[in-house]
This record gives sequence, C-alpha cells and structure tokens, in this order.
Amino acid sequence: MSSWLKYIEHIQPVKSGYFKAGDSLFYNGIDSRMITPEILRLINEKASIFHKKIKIFNEESVDDFVGYLTGCELCTTDWDVSGYFDSYNNTIAYTEQYCTASKQFLETLCHEMSHSFQINIGIDILDKTLLNRFKSEQQCDTMAYYLMKAINPTLTNYTFDGSYFDKSALNWLADYYVGTPVKNDVF
Ligand SMILES: [Zn+2]
Repeated sequence: MSSWLKYIEHIQPVKSGYFKAGDSLFYNGIDSRMITPEILRLINEKASIFHKKIKIFNEESVDDFVGYLTGCELCTTDWDVSGYFDSYNNTIAYTEQYCTASKQFLETLCHEMSHSFQINIGIDILDKTLLNRFKSEQQCDTMAYYLMKAINPTLTNYTFDGSYFDKSALNWLADYYVGTPVKNDVF
C-alpha cells in the first residue's frame, strides 16, 4: 500500500444505493465510487497538513485549520445556509446558529473545504446545470466524510450526516438556484 494512504488505509469503501432524478441516478448515501485515487491522494495530503500543523480541531485552531488546508479565509454569514465556499473571494463562510455543535461545525467546514479541493483537481464546481451541481455536492459530502476520517483516525462507526443524499435535497438545491444562471434540468 502506498504511503499516501497512511491516514486513510483503514477506511473501508462505503457503498450505497441509488435514486433517480431527471435522467440521472444519484447515490443515496456516502459512496466511495465518487472518489478517485487523485481525490484520495489530495485528501491525504490535507490530512498530513492537519496532523503536522493543526493537530487538534477547536475554537482556537479553526482559522488555521481552514487557512492551512485551503488558503481560504474563514468568516461568518447571515445567509440561510450552514456554510458556503466563495471561489472568487477565496473565503469559506459558516452560520454561527447552525454550527454550535462541533461535529456539525467540522462537517460543514469539511464540506465547504472540499469544494476548494474540487477546484484544485480541476472539477468545475460552477457548472450551469442543476444535475451536475447536485452530483458535485454529493461528491463533496463524500470527500468531507473521508477527510473527517483522515483527520481523526480514531473515529469508529462514524456517520456523516450528509445533506445531499435524497430527492428533497435536490428540491432544496433547485430552489436555491432560482434566479441564477444555473439551469434546472430536472423539473
Ligand atoms: Zn456544497
């Protein structure tokens, strides 16, 4: 096993089922088939940085955590979302009211940071169709799950409460993009 798997070699592949939306099939849970070796390698690099520079995730280290792993600045937002990644301004934002529980806060950050990792490996996160955006969100939740495991290998039976694994999430995303250039190719 190659050395870049140092932090994630213990992670078992996860497989879930599917649901249909438009002409596409989507995963209904975290699924390792959304993760390529390139993505795993990148997640492992980020985990190495975490283990070297950050070590423990807490209130004091949260700005460094986001800064060292993504180069983004961390800020808060009043928008009605748990968080977002802004690729133009290189910021990651979170909503304080949704992030009082540290597990949820860490998951939100890992999800938003994964959007910046997607850009690192050339994935178009600003795709103009709803189905592709939704695919990208599912991949992001899955990347966040693997990142969570890699930065904390002691987590056992860890469940990531991903938000993008059923049709209601697709409806939510469709509403979210109303009035934007993202084309609704589902409904
Ligand atoms: Zn997202």
